[in-house]
Amino acid sequence: MNRLLLFIILFLFASTTYSQQLHEYYFKFKIEDRGVINNLSKIISIDNVQGNEVYAYANDEELVEFMQYEIKFEMLPKPGDVSNVSMSDNIDEIMEWDTYPTYDAYVTMMNQFVAAYPNLCRIVNAGSTVYGRSILFAVISDNVNTKEPEPQFQYSSSMHGDETTGYVLMLRLINQLLTNYNTDPKITNLVNNIEIWINPLANPDGTYYPQSNNTISGARRYNANGKDLNRNFPDPADGPNPGGAWQPETIAYMNLFTANRFVLSANFHGGAEVVNYPWDTWSRLSADNSWWVYVCRQYADTVHANAPSTYMDEFDNGITNGYAWYRITGGRQDYMTYFRRGREVTIEISNTKLLPGAQLPAHWNYNYKSFLNYMQRCLYGINGTVKDSITLQPINRAKITVNSFDMDSSEVLSDSLFGKYYRMINTGTYSLTFSKTGYNSKTVTNVYAKKDSLTTLNVLLRPVSVNISNNGNAIPQDYKLYQNYPNPFNPATTISFALPKESDIVLKVYDISGREVAELINGVLKAGEYNYKFDASDLSSGVYFYSIKAGSYTETKKMLLVK
Ligand SMILES: [Zn+2]
Repeated sequence: MNRLLLFIILFLFASTTYSQQLHEYYFKFKIEDRGVINNLSKIISIDNVQGNEVYAYANDEELVEFMQYEIKFEMLPKPGDVSNVSMSDNIDEIMEWDTYPTYDAYVTMMNQFVAAYPNLCRIVNAGSTVYGRSILFAVISDNVNTKEPEPQFQYSSSMHGDETTGYVLMLRLINQLLTNYNTDPKITNLVNNIEIWINPLANPDGTYYPQSNNTISGARRYNANGKDLNRNFPDPADGPNPGGAWQPETIAYMNLFTANRFVLSANFHGGAEVVNYPWDTWSRLSADNSWWVYVCRQYADTVHANAPSTYMDEFDNGITNGYAWYRITGGRQDYMTYFRRGREVTIEISNTKLLPGAQLPAHWNYNYKSFLNYMQRCLYGINGTVKDSITLQPINRAKITVNSFDMDSSEVLSDSLFGKYYRMINTGTYSLTFSKTGYNSKTVTNVYAKKDSLTTLNVLLRPVSVNISNNGNAIPQDYKLYQNYPNPFNPATTISFALPKESDIVLKVYDISGREVAELINGVLKAGEYNYKFDASDLSSGVYFYSIKAGSYTETKKMLLVK
């Protein structure tokens, strides 16, 4: 295609959206070789692949780059350009669930949930969008304002702003959980035992584009900077920035997902009807592939029992491996599953992206039971606590490895408050190793787990610092870190320190370049004088530093290992 034609096309599309700086295009083209998708998906945002037909979005820059490939394409009406979208700012009307709320009504509803159910619901604002809107989560649990040893679960919808079905369905789910707590046994069980996070609107600037708070007509896939948020996360194969610099929305999500440890999650989209499971970025199957297939199969089969036969029947009757459909990089699903060690699926919930309001109740009926069943998964598998055998304090970030099974970051970690871990897994007999720097690893064999029930396995790890001794008697006046003795040493030396009160302490050893070589202690010790016998048999000769941190007290000293 020549340049002149390109500029004519850009001009034509630009003129229809004259008041907006950034354009968003929707188009389709045919490919002969599916391999080309891997290259194209780095340039444009591929939305769907059906046989050899590809549907995609692009901003101006992306379209220009795509046109270098000289692939014939056909512009399509944008899915968000729907006139006569049913909108309401009346909460009672919205709660008939067959219309879309205005943006202000949405925010009001979220706050009303908390006002009506203060013990079951709180709102977390994960951060601001490009236009300063809020990314809101409703957190639902019994004793919602108290941290309890429960798995964290998360649903979010409409990261692609023009895929709006899940938006209303998630609002309705929040309402359903709150209004049926203590009357519906299944809901009561979920709310009692899970910390449920629901984010109905992941990309408000896209849905209410550009700043049209009163209508979602004109909704867009991208955020206000013209970026696809579901291509903007760190990727297991393509590194931290496959989709360019992180957008404000991406940063908000990453902060939230680092501060919380979601065991299981799903991200709702539209434009297809299928449950898409990891991985999106590479063809290698997940260690938990058979479990994924089972869980997704259950989602789709339950949908089929509640929907017309034509709903969610594509691919393998409603489920697909992500890569097998088409490769994307920078998606949230792989980010959550790989980097956050959670488990996330992408659920495409309606072929029509901006679904007419009147069809929303039917889609609720198709999916409602599956919404609950999917949440319930995080109560199954193997779970328990990992604690220090001496202090009995929870061990944070202990790694739980399923031996001869885990790969690609499928190991899970224990949490900081309770030392709890959750390892959803298919039925089988497993060997698990619990490990943490500063502790002796422990392997437990013959652990039988079932995909539909819970196996509890609590573990105590013995600190490497079992050779720690407490001098007892007088309580020291101040924190102190003493010079080690002997020094120089080979291969062992004693590091002594004093704690005037019970303290959360970290004692670490660094080499001369500042690299951490050993974490000797990371836990709570009572007030007293301690001697830690440090065995450096596996280190080479040289200068090392040992450093203590106890509350605001820190001290570092030098020692010399001579072999
Ligand atoms: Zn999408």
